Amino acid sequence: MTLPIAENVSPRRWRWIRLTTWHKEVRFLYWPPPHPPGYRNLQMFDRDGYDIGRLVWVVCDGCRVGSINKISIDPDHQRRGLGRQLIRRTLTDGPGYTWQTTHQSPHAKLFFPALEKELSVALPEYGGVCQHLGSPPGYQPRPPGRRPRPLLERRL
Ligand SMILES: [Zn+2]
Repeated sequence: MTLPIAENVSPRRWRWIRLTTWHKEVRFLYWPPPHPPGYRNLQMFDRDGYDIGRLVWVVCDGCRVGSINKISIDPDHQRRGLGRQLIRRTLTDGPGYTWQTTHQSPHAKLFFPALEKELSVALPEYGGVCQHLGSPPGYQPRPPGRRPRPLLERRL
């Protein structure tokens, strides 16, 4: 059986990642932005290496604002706290920053308010970002395959 390999990861490195995280149900890979304030991508893979979800966000350190632009989790892996883990990790990129999200799906409209309470941070839909981060609604970030090499996220 041929197992999938995460984009932009050499087979050798992917084997190493899987070995070092064999005890984990989910492994998280982080693609840093090509240049700040570029899109940051955190992607989750199951034991077999299948892509089970991702979060895409941007941060402007100059203006101390951040925007969560995309969150998706495979239906089979929802309700396990993975979304929370993704968001918590994202917020560490801008402690004390002003955060917003782009368009929220009906599911996200329930998810984000619950998180706001839990994490004591406002996560409004289209809450306003600085001129460096502004992108029109519906803008799709580039796929992670064209990003720099991903890093194994060991904090998660
Ligand atoms: Zn800015």
